[in-house]
Amino acid sequence: MGLIKLKNKYTGCMLGAAIGDALGKQNEGVRRKEILKMGYIKDYGRAPTGSPGDKLRAGQYTDDTEQMLVLAQSLIAFNGFKAVDFAYRIAKWGVKVRNDPSRSPFLGPSSSSAIDKLNSGISWKESGSDIPSCGSAMRVAPIGLFYDCLENVESNAVLSSIPTHKSKGAIAGAVAVAVAVRCSLDGFDRHEIIRQTCERASNYDIGFAKKIELAYESRNEMPDIVFDRLGTSYYVYDTVPCAFYCFSRYFDDPEMAIIESVNAGGDTDSIGCITGALCGALHGIERFSKKWINGLENKDLVENIATMIYGKTRGLIRT
Ligand SMILES: [Mg+2]
Repeated sequence: MGLIKLKNKYTGCMLGAAIGDALGKQNEGVRRKEILKMGYIKDYGRAPTGSPGDKLRAGQYTDDTEQMLVLAQSLIAFNGFKAVDFAYRIAKWGVKVRNDPSRSPFLGPSSSSAIDKLNSGISWKESGSDIPSCGSAMRVAPIGLFYDCLENVESNAVLSSIPTHKSKGAIAGAVAVAVAVRCSLDGFDRHEIIRQTCERASNYDIGFAKKIELAYESRNEMPDIVFDRLGTSYYVYDTVPCAFYCFSRYFDDPEMAIIESVNAGGDTDSIGCITGALCGALHGIERFSKKWINGLENKDLVENIATMIYGKTRGLIRT
């Protein structure tokens, strides 16, 4: 692997997340057995009727990427993570989504209750749901991009989870993804990325960290066996380990990693989103097919936001 421009890793991370999300929405809620019957999805298309993204066009991403962009914009505006501002932006985003019939199904039980609480004036420290779903892990990548020391990545990933997801599992999930994004950006090898991730995540939920380890140790086993073993539900204990499995299994082949992740079954948009973020941070934007990049909704917006985060971290953009 030659030298990859750091900026391309920033844009690769956020575009990878959006690509995985947009591809994965086509299989959201579909069982693995059905996916195998229909054949693997490798390009954009519509989501199945009855799934949260069923009104979206091919190449459009879902709530995972939308929330990731909200977090990134808050980081840019305040030159760092500010919980009050992020909570305010998520609450505003929630109202907009609820009033848009094509996007209102995005709001699952955790986000929905958190957004109601925030909008009724409850503090971001109290508004989070106790359901250990993956909503804070799926959007957290920009924290790993923004902070370069793992201590800060960890503490800010925790804070970014709390306004909507305050269970120990959800917090551990957000920490895991943010830490792995940072370690991938820094070009650590696969073993070291997992070691750092598990060490940081185990500060919040040892069981969750053990499942990441299990996913990593399963990397040479066949996807059918492993997805069955790990589970593919929207719980953080399933989605995040599945993404780490795909990432570890195809460590040198980001396209294969994403294709495997969006065909896992279950919560495929989030599994794809997290896998895409990790692969992009490791390999950079150039390793994704042009077809995926050009077919993506708002690709320029996603790329510009990632470039602005890169600029902030290099001290190139001051506001
Ligand atoms: Mg989604």
